[in-house]
Amino acid sequence: MVSFSIVAIQRKKNLRAGAAYLLMIAVQCGIAVGFDTGPHFDLTQAVLSERGFGDDAIKITQVENWLTDYYSSSPTIAGSKRDELEKLHFDNLFTTDQVINYWSQLINNVRTETQNAARQDDPLAALTVLGIALHAVQDFYSHSNWVETHPRPSDGTYRTDTYAQYANSKTTLKSLTLFTGKYPTDRTYGPGPDRIPANVQIHGDYESGLNHDSLVRPRWDQAYVFAYAASHEIVEAIAKWADETRPGFWKSVISYAVDTNLRKKLDYDVSALRNMSMWINGKGADGHWKGNKSGSKRFFSAFSTKWIGSDSSVFVRQMRDGTASRTLSSNLYSGALPPPMPDLPRFSLQRRAILVRTLKIKQQSDSGNLRSEIGKLAAPDYYARTRIGSQEFCSRTIQGSSESIDPWQEIYFAALDDVNVPIRISVWDEDDIDSAKDQATDINPVIGKNTLDLIFNTATGQISGDLSGNFNSPETAFTSSGEKPDKKRAAITAYVTQYPLK
Ligand SMILES: [Zn+2]
Repeated sequence: MVSFSIVAIQRKKNLRAGAAYLLMIAVQCGIAVGFDTGPHFDLTQAVLSERGFGDDAIKITQVENWLTDYYSSSPTIAGSKRDELEKLHFDNLFTTDQVINYWSQLINNVRTETQNAARQDDPLAALTVLGIALHAVQDFYSHSNWVETHPRPSDGTYRTDTYAQYANSKTTLKSLTLFTGKYPTDRTYGPGPDRIPANVQIHGDYESGLNHDSLVRPRWDQAYVFAYAASHEIVEAIAKWADETRPGFWKSVISYAVDTNLRKKLDYDVSALRNMSMWINGKGADGHWKGNKSGSKRFFSAFSTKWIGSDSSVFVRQMRDGTASRTLSSNLYSGALPPPMPDLPRFSLQRRAILVRTLKIKQQSDSGNLRSEIGKLAAPDYYARTRIGSQEFCSRTIQGSSESIDPWQEIYFAALDDVNVPIRISVWDEDDIDSAKDQATDINPVIGKNTLDLIFNTATGQISGDLSGNFNSPETAFTSSGEKPDKKRAAITAYVTQYPLK
């Protein structure tokens, strides 16, 4: 009996190892769907924390948001489920009418599935709906020509007039030519019954196409700000539908918390979403956390084999085995005329965007290692952790490069009355699949201190703290570097600037 179950466990493990192998194959075929995982993750963090969500509820939503991408291409899920999830990225809509119908159907589906979760008094189901809904809504701004049809004013403000604000003004919408990109590039049919028209724009990759998936693409920042406003709108609407169905239910959703054991699993899923997106590497893909250059076959393989081989958490099973993706994706491409789109509340928060942009990171020539050691060591794999106000951002890793231009950019949304915004920048050298083992790189001339601690004054635009001055453009950027005897030193050139949201 015992030996039999060991055999069964072994077989199960082999199956999972097989799944990991298949995943590697799939990765080598090239996978890219949506805003990169990093922007989805940061937007979800920003919006849900502003709306009073607890940490566990935010993490669960971030995981479900990511799984919407992951299971759209992973061979570790049933093909029918993959087909459902593949529809939730606003791809392959080539006319304004198709865009309008998709929006109407999607928001109706989100309302229905929110009401179902509320009726069943099931907060985890509601968080799953929320994660998928946020993913799709955010993808619209990353995948469509919305930013091109709503250009940024010359005064530098960011626009927040989202699709939902025009949804019930068909005359306005029909005066626009809206479409999204073809994905994947070699698609000839579908996902609906129709053949793809000739000469449509493709979703593209890091260098080309319609997408605004990451900071390496033009107008990514504008898509990101629209997606921020739109995320607020959809969360507010979901909250309203939830409480109309079951008064008080929403409170249980935003304060949903798990026990210590389950939190460990949740944190493991969060590290999976970061690591697997960071390291995905194969034909066409060189990382999809925040742009390219972060791919690592070795790390991806080592981490994903372990994560896929472990027992799936209830959060993963919720997506893999649940019905949310079926309801939410239904009729999105069927060609059937959808019911009118439910009204979404208009984004009305008073916010400014604070941008922290790194123009250059460069290893110091004599970085404190012995010359003989340098010969043996590969170039550093730098990434930054940046805390702006209350939000922590993790950048992409630039693999194997002692000097990198324009590696990182983070956008934080601050309340207008937030005058002194603290900013902490630290740079790390990625050495292990466990980031806790990574070593800090010294970017601060103060002996014994690695990080830069700054205060950005939004009233004056001045920076104080470890540096002082006005560093608000590429021309006036600061450069700060570590000093001996500190080891592992680098020089960082960066600036901090702000724009209001209108
Ligand atoms: Zn997507």
